[in-house]
Amino acid sequence: GTHETTVLVVGALHPHAVERLGKTFRIETLKEGDPALVTPELAARVRGIAANAVIDGPVMDALPNLEIIANFGVGYDKVDAVYAESAGVMVTNTPDVLTEEVADTTLGLLLDTVRELPQAQAWLREGKWENQGNYPLTKLSLRGRRVGIFGLGRIGKAVGRRIEAFGLPIAYHNRRKADGVTYDYYPTLLELAEAVDTLIVVAPGGAGTEKTINAEVLRALGPDGVLINIGRGSVVDEEALIEALGNGTIAAVGLDVFADEPHVPQALIDLPNATLLPHVGSASQATRRAMADLVVDNLIAWFGDGAPLTPVPETVNVKRHA
Ligand code: NDP
Repeated sequence: GTHETTVLVVGALHPHAVERLGKTFRIETLKEGDPALVTPELAARVRGIAANAVIDGPVMDALPNLEIIANFGVGYDKVDAVYAESAGVMVTNTPDVLTEEVADTTLGLLLDTVRELPQAQAWLREGKWENQGNYPLTKLSLRGRRVGIFGLGRIGKAVGRRIEAFGLPIAYHNRRKADGVTYDYYPTLLELAEAVDTLIVVAPGGAGTEKTINAEVLRALGPDGVLINIGRGSVVDEEALIEALGNGTIAAVGLDVFADEPHVPQALIDLPNATLLPHVGSASQATRRAMADLVVDNLIAWFGDGAPLTPVPETVNVKRHA
């Protein structure tokens, strides 16, 4: 540790993380993970990265003394963890500290989508309650629904506990059966979509889930179908979704994440049956601060005893050389 170790802050990192890093490390900053921005001086000195940005193979190659990438966020699809492992570089993320917050947001998004609460509030604020009468009755209800969870991990299970309290049956799809739950397991996403009318995506991004919510899955969900995505935008084929919402293949969608953030397709914005949030799943002051602390604590632990707090599965066996 101490100020002899240089940590590179890449992207717009939480100010609390930057402040704490500055107390222990020598800090350098980079707007993005672009190898063209790496000076020879940085290449010689950087041993750690605190990242809220894309970190891929070329930028790792440009930093020969890099040992660890501490990602801000539990989802680390912007970091090439497979390449990192092959290069002997540790990758950490920020699990657990955001789980309950993101699950809370998911239930809020589900209720907003099904019961049109944002639209009802707009009705009041626009003076329509007083001038035109009651907000129209919602076509959809949570009552009688059957919920499928795609990605029953830490957050998916916290969502499941909340859905149980709402009195709705739950089924799920993962690559493997999950421990500690009695929910019905479906070995494919399509079978899950056929069995439920409400599909909540809490799966990570990356190649394994890319556009897996496609036209066929949306058709299987059916005309009363509601899709909620709090996982990653890349999981959904947005073109197929826009078509399915427009022609009644499914009833409604609630999205916190998008394929090309912060850009949201105008066709989605124009759809009345789409409830859209600007990636606020974990975005409270307290939770973001806890995530910032975990980024810093992973770096301190690595440069201390070499045992990071929350390594990602791909790099769990990477060891310090020094
Ligand atoms: P976990 O790793 O605990 O859970 C991920 C789950 O997805 C696991 O159950 C895993 O099961 C399943 N899964 C992974 N890949 C696949 C696949 N190819 N096919 C089917 N199932 C798959 O992660 P968390 O619950 O902590 O977080 C989940 C994701 O939520 C993050 O990766 C992130 O993208 C997103 N997120 C979004 C936030 C927001 O603000 N909107 C905030 C925080 C997280 P198995 O391995 O058996 O397949």
